[in-house]
Amino acid sequence: MRTYDEALAAARDESTFSNSSQWEVWSAKNCDRCIHDRPARQGDDGNGCPLILISLLGKRPAEWQTQSAEDDVFADYTCTEFRHDDAPAPQARPVSVSPGQGELLPCEPYEVRCTVTPRPPSGPAAAEGGGVL
Ligand code: SF4
Repeated sequence: MRTYDEALAAARDESTFSNSSQWEVWSAKNCDRCIHDRPARQGDDGNGCPLILISLLGKRPAEWQTQSAEDDVFADYTCTEFRHDDAPAPQARPVSVSPGQGELLPCEPYEVRCTVTPRPPSGPAAAEGGGVL
């Protein structure tokens, strides 16, 4: 997760929630069960989620995405940094080499990332309405 300064620099100059009820509903679905705001829920407000603070400044964190214009109207954001309080600790990346597998170069400190771009369906799968990842 970005630092407060990084998140503030990336935030958009637009307001988020039109009233406190809208915020209360959204935060109950998101921040109230997110690991990033757990310190604030435990009384340590100084270490709460910086994205919430940024929204209180009248800006929209870049991490708060919407899928449609309707989502914008109802401020139904999807926070890309949400991680459920009960989620297991993130796995170290890259995943360690399997037992018995040779390793030519040490993995650290390199980070392995991959993206999956969905391909449009073709062939028999397209006729059945399926697609291929
Ligand atoms: S990371 Fe997103 S969902 Fe989690 S507390 Fe911060 S703003 Fe809320």
